[in-house]
Formats: sequence, structure tokens, C-alpha cells
Amino acid sequence: MDSSHITCIQCGNVSPMKQIGKGEDMVTYEDERIGPYETGRVFEILKCPKCGQITLADYEWNSAMDSEDFTGYRILYPVKESFPLGLPVKILNEYVAAEQVKQVHKEAYALILGRILEMICIDYEASGKTLADRLQDLSLKNKIPEKLVKVASSLRMFRNRGAHVGEELDSKQLPLIRALCNALLQYLYTAPYLADLAEKQLKKKPTK
Ligand SMILES: [Zn+2]
Repeated sequence: MDSSHITCIQCGNVSPMKQIGKGEDMVTYEDERIGPYETGRVFEILKCPKCGQITLADYEWNSAMDSEDFTGYRILYPVKESFPLGLPVKILNEYVAAEQVKQVHKEAYALILGRILEMICIDYEASGKTLADRLQDLSLKNKIPEKLVKVASSLRMFRNRGAHVGEELDSKQLPLIRALCNALLQYLYTAPYLADLAEKQLKKKPTK
């Protein structure tokens, strides 16, 4: 199949991917009218021409069908990252942008997540000269607990490492950096969002 139907989740590239492997899981049936036909799923290993990362996709195939009956690829790998609920649009957009550069530029990923820290400080009206000061200010004003200040500070330090040439990040550190960012966002945005949602639902009169 033509892999131009797929956008690379890892870098956002839309030009066709190179197929580097293929597998089929087919069953043959006999039909009185059209004779024997095969149906099942076809698996393709695709390589992105831009970032070089691998995508595993599959699609339904029936040897009797026309190409216009093609229902499209289903991406099995990589698993699309989900984002914390209740994020302000500005922060969500920034987070989506970070995920798009993650595979091609680790340091840029840390930098964008660092920008999210700055956005949080603006959103929560933190004062202070440096980002470290502003995070401390949030703690002093009891807007974030002391333990979360440490989470934010760790994220800030990864951001700083990403900003300096010669201090590269290890790709194994990226899940930790993401988890630090998620811990903060979930406390600051997801928890109030869910509490608000629950309150609204509880106020609703039963429909029957
Ligand atoms: Zn790519």
C-alpha cells in the first residue's frame, strides 16, 4: 500500500515512508461466485525518510477488494503519547510541539518542556528574576507543594542541560523528563479540571 497515508508520529513528516519489512496473516476462503479469495491483515515496517524512526502499521486486506476499498493504516507502533487532561490550549500546543521534536532533537525537547515551566509561572503569577526564583515563589505562596518544587527544579535542570552545547542529554532520560513535566501538569491542571468536572456531574439531575 501507499504509505503516503501515514504521518510520522515521531517527527510529523508526511512524505511517503520506505517499507523495510512486510508480514501477512491471511486466510483463504472459497466463494462459489468469485472463487478462492484471501482475507486478513498485512503488517508493514516503515522507515521515515526524515527522522529515520520506525513505524509498525497494519491494514485489512482482501484479495477481492478494489484499491478504493482500502480503509487505511492502523499505527501499532509507536504508541501515540497522551497528554494530561485539562491543559490550557497554549500549554497543550507547546507539549504537542515538544513531542514532535523528541526523536530528532532531545535537547530541543527539554527546552520546550522548560518553556512549559515558564508558562506555568506566568499562569500562576509567580514572581522572581530567574525561573528557579519563580518556582520557589510558587511554593512560598502555597500554589505548589514543596515536593513538587523539587520536581519542577529537576525539570528546570534538564532544560538547562539541553540549552548548553556540549552537555547533551541521553535519550534514556527523556521518559523521566516527560514524567516530571506530567507530575506538575497533573497537579496544577488535571486535578482541578477533574474536580470541577465531577462537581458539575454531581449537580446534574438524573435523566430518569
Ligand atoms: Zn519521522
